[in-house]
Amino acid sequence: MTSKKLDQFLNENLNDLRDRGLYNEIDPVESANGPIIKIGGRDLINLSSNNYLGLATDERLKKEAVSAVEKYGVGAGAVRTINGTLDIHLKLESKIAEFKGTEAAIAYQSGFNCNMAAISAVMDKNDAILSDELNHASIIDGCRLSRAKVIRFNHSDMEDLRAKAKEAVESGQYNKVMVITDGVFSMDGDVAKLPEIVEIAEEFDIMTYVDDAHGSGVLGKGSGTVKHFGLSDRVDFQIGTLSKAIGVIGGYVAGKQNLIDWLKVASRPFLFSTALTPADVAATTKAIELILNSTELQDKMWENSNYLKEGLQKLGYDIGKSETPITPCIIGDEKTTQQFSKRLNEEGVYAKSIVFPTVPRGTGRVRNMPTAAHTKEMLDEALAIYEKVGKEMNLI
Ligand SMILES: *Cc1c(COP(=O)(O)O)cnc(C)c1O
Repeated sequence: MTSKKLDQFLNENLNDLRDRGLYNEIDPVESANGPIIKIGGRDLINLSSNNYLGLATDERLKKEAVSAVEKYGVGAGAVRTINGTLDIHLKLESKIAEFKGTEAAIAYQSGFNCNMAAISAVMDKNDAILSDELNHASIIDGCRLSRAKVIRFNHSDMEDLRAKAKEAVESGQYNKVMVITDGVFSMDGDVAKLPEIVEIAEEFDIMTYVDDAHGSGVLGKGSGTVKHFGLSDRVDFQIGTLSKAIGVIGGYVAGKQNLIDWLKVASRPFLFSTALTPADVAATTKAIELILNSTELQDKMWENSNYLKEGLQKLGYDIGKSETPITPCIIGDEKTTQQFSKRLNEEGVYAKSIVFPTVPRGTGRVRNMPTAAHTKEMLDEALAIYEKVGKEMNLI
């Protein structure tokens, strides 16, 4: 017999979510995750994926993945530290280091995993971490896992960071202190104030850790937020994902050789979880090569983002303070936001609503992610649907 306690726990919590309209129903996609996706047999203009450069469906990456499967098979066969390190893993890691302008890099199975790995390999219960209050869930969990004291600072508030950094260091309570921030914040699309963060860190000899999941491939001619600000040799940990602009799966840390040497012996997901598959490795390596060799995809992505942003603004939508392609349409009320997203879907645009608790109460939004793969015609059609639904619901 299975546990009655578990059943009771699950039923109570699931019913509670459903009663409050917060239970998330997942829509299975019946096609590739490109600019048009098929859901429930209908084609929709896709404005919800992180596939910034359109690389998730790029023919050149598919070809590399297929050849890697032919040569190495579908699985790496072991963890990296036994015999799961293929020559192509090392090639990928040196490509990432070149991409990020660092001495070395280490690849992980995901960006989430990477934050679980890297923070706790260096920080422990005698240390403190200064963490932006809007940092990604995987950073929050990675900090918890390290057992370091977490000191949250107000979002991008440099006076608050400075005061808390000074206090943490001068208290003499901690062995090491680190500051962690997203490079680009995913809900509003704003960019971290890295030059000031680095200055504060240098003043107090604090380590710097930047998770640039949404900035890589997007800012700094593709190389990310750190490069964008010219800080490649002043940030200790450059974290990124291989699953957003890079289009595949995986995560990485780029930094000095001794940091990477340490992570290869001390970070648990590297030691205890099987290596990235040959297809993933080959496709991500190709993606980075493409980004290093040409800005064609970035240029197209920026052109599309600017076009969509201008169009939505002209229609009268509040698109917040984004400095990146992430384009929120801020509606406010949670129920209205969900209704808006549903109506957009019925008319042919897939743009998911994001509401409390992911964003503050009363700032519900539909988040748009234009990519390099969208055409002007698709964006025009999306804007026409935004106009129709917005007018119908008295939002513009
Ligand atoms: C998306 C994201 C991650 C997770 O990356 P995955 O590769 O999808 O696991 C980590 N950190 C930040 C800041 C992210 O936005």
